[in-house]
Amino acid sequence: MDLAARIHAISIVSVPAAVSVNVFAIPEVEVTLVDAGIAGSLERIERGLAEVGRSLADVRRVVVTHGHPDHAGTAAALEAAGAEVCMHPADFERLKFGVRDALRRPSRGRLFASVVRPPTAIRPLEDGDVLPVLGGLRVVHTPGHTPGSICLYAPRDRILFTGDALQVRRGRLVFASRLYSDDYAAAKASVRRMAELDVATIVFAHYPPWTDGANEALAALADRAGH
Ligand SMILES: [Zn+2]
Ligand SMILES: [Zn+2]
Repeated sequence: MDLAARIHAISIVSVPAAVSVNVFAIPEVEVTLVDAGIAGSLERIERGLAEVGRSLADVRRVVVTHGHPDHAGTAAALEAAGAEVCMHPADFERLKFGVRDALRRPSRGRLFASVVRPPTAIRPLEDGDVLPVLGGLRVVHTPGHTPGSICLYAPRDRILFTGDALQVRRGRLVFASRLYSDDYAAAKASVRRMAELDVATIVFAHYPPWTDGANEALAALADRAGH
């Protein structure tokens, strides 16, 4: 399968932090985006869509893997441009917290969420929901990095989008960031859900896709989750 023909990665680089995050455009009859990038990324997303001959007006939905600022930052602007924002309600609830609320009971997760401008409404996604994308894109709730972190699994193409629920470090597949995750133990346990799937390609937000023995790599990581 030619991954690049089905999924167009739009790399968004935030200059002060020099962090890059991918927004994935899936250009079918309707365009679906996976993640929304940092705030202010609308023009960059528009340019990325133009690379595959599409425009913002074609974007039917944006599926947000979790509510962190580098993934949900431009969701409200995409909503204003006509897209439906789809995400897990647990992370949407947090986006509605203001900075003042977050400071009252501070945690890194609440503070992160408080800087994101929330969309006015979402289509809530729960575990097992299937979106009409890539022949059926299944929602897998994988809490831990955030309470509402989701992975998206396309059985037809054996692709798994993981957002920040997994990382690649020194060429190895590893658990979500301990520092930036709300519940590291839960994040580790969630890998067991991923290991139940038949995966050829793991698509991350911050690293190149993983195509070499994905099932084996997920199984090996899931084995380490309980220890
Ligand atoms: Zn991220
Ligand atoms: Zn994150």
